[in-house]
Amino acid sequence: MSRMLFGFWLLVASALSPCMFAQTPDPQSPQARIAQMLNESPGAWTPEQIANMERLRDAALNDPYALTELRHLTDNIGPRLAGSPQAQHAVEWVAEEMRALGATVTIEKTTVPHWVRGEETAELTAWPGMTPKTTQKIVLTALGGSVATPKDGITAPVIVVDSFADLKALPKDTVKGKILLFNERFDKELAAQGRGDEAYGEAVMYRGAAPSVAASLGAIATLVRSVGGADYRLPHTGMTYYAPRSPKIPAGAVTAEDADLVKNLTSQGEVQMHLTLTPEQQAPVETANVIADWKGTEHPEQVVIVSGHLDSWDLATGAIDDGAGIVVSMQAIHLLQKLGMHPKRTVRFVAWMDEEQGSYGAQTYAKDYAGELQNHVGAIESDLGAGHPTGIYFQGGAALDEWLKPLSRVLAPIGAPLLERSAETGEDINSVTEKGVPGFAPIQDSRYYFNYHHTAADTFDKVNPRELGENAAVMAVTAYALADAATPAPR
Ligand SMILES: [Zn+2]
Repeated sequence: MSRMLFGFWLLVASALSPCMFAQTPDPQSPQARIAQMLNESPGAWTPEQIANMERLRDAALNDPYALTELRHLTDNIGPRLAGSPQAQHAVEWVAEEMRALGATVTIEKTTVPHWVRGEETAELTAWPGMTPKTTQKIVLTALGGSVATPKDGITAPVIVVDSFADLKALPKDTVKGKILLFNERFDKELAAQGRGDEAYGEAVMYRGAAPSVAASLGAIATLVRSVGGADYRLPHTGMTYYAPRSPKIPAGAVTAEDADLVKNLTSQGEVQMHLTLTPEQQAPVETANVIADWKGTEHPEQVVIVSGHLDSWDLATGAIDDGAGIVVSMQAIHLLQKLGMHPKRTVRFVAWMDEEQGSYGAQTYAKDYAGELQNHVGAIESDLGAGHPTGIYFQGGAALDEWLKPLSRVLAPIGAPLLERSAETGEDINSVTEKGVPGFAPIQDSRYYFNYHHTAADTFDKVNPRELGENAAVMAVTAYALADAATPAPR
């Protein structure tokens, strides 16, 4: 027996001995932790309620409902850009599915922008070392909200900068009349460590700010290196913004490979690009959030939100972003119905509309329910794909860490025991968590999520059925726990 193992058995022996509490141990010491594991408290729940959570967990792993619903939402209904006919079809379909489960459905009207993608092409027309009379294709996509170039496109020299700092160092008027490409790299190493959301957060600043920064310096169009992790020459779309008083110039995202190509060629001499983007901003459209209540038996006015966003980008069918979040939330209601569980408080499924273009649905909810947020005991959102969850992100009162501990034990058998405090738990639930409602989200494996995020490859096959079930388990267990606890989650 190694010394380390010998030491371990000594610890176990001392933890099991009757005199283990003779002196108060440090609560983080191995002895104290082993003692805790041997004397687990169900916390705010009875042993029967803990058993219900275990039943929900196991059912979520084995019940095909979430996967079947995802297949329909993605393959049959298709891409769901807010304002599009498909997004509206999805609203009606989800409402009908929820009615079929016996939930009380409310269609909450909200108005969203209606941006429609047009033609999007680019090619290099001049560069050092080119073969005369040829062009070189550049793979790109328009950024959401972008204005159009003239129908026949524009042709101009391209300037490449790696960062805002590089841009600042350029001589005055360098970008005037040109196409400015921001070549900020997505940090793949950070994403590979499971910190994909942090890598995204850094690079996405450029996607959002590029048009305003470039226009302020006189650029006539702007491009960003795609914000994403894979190398299959896929452009990643996403929202961009125009500062109120700066001129609006067309904005697109080129693939990582094309950004590297243009960067290399511009380092050798002048490069000309012909760029055509013809999206259209049409009149705003009235659409809706879908709200479906599984009514509480003792405090129906007290509400736990379990949610995802129903809209997607238009390049693909939005399986990981965020069809998965929708169907794992639907599964929470389905399993309560199937297992005949009726918690004390209301479990409220919400399919948010238009997270991608500005969270208009979430803003409408925050306004419509402003007077009822005191009665919201928690809000859960899944919007980081369907990768294996390792636990629960949470935000709320100081006592929430301790309150959640029994859930960690319920979720440990599926590899999801972690409880991590986070500053944010979801874009759509931000407006309620900002008002003090405790927020929750599955901690999803984000190592591969940004390979497909906002690309033409965000399709049904990217979702692993087992992992989708694990996410559904986290959602269902957390929703039930919040809705049925003896005391509400500490705010
Ligand atoms: Zn999303």
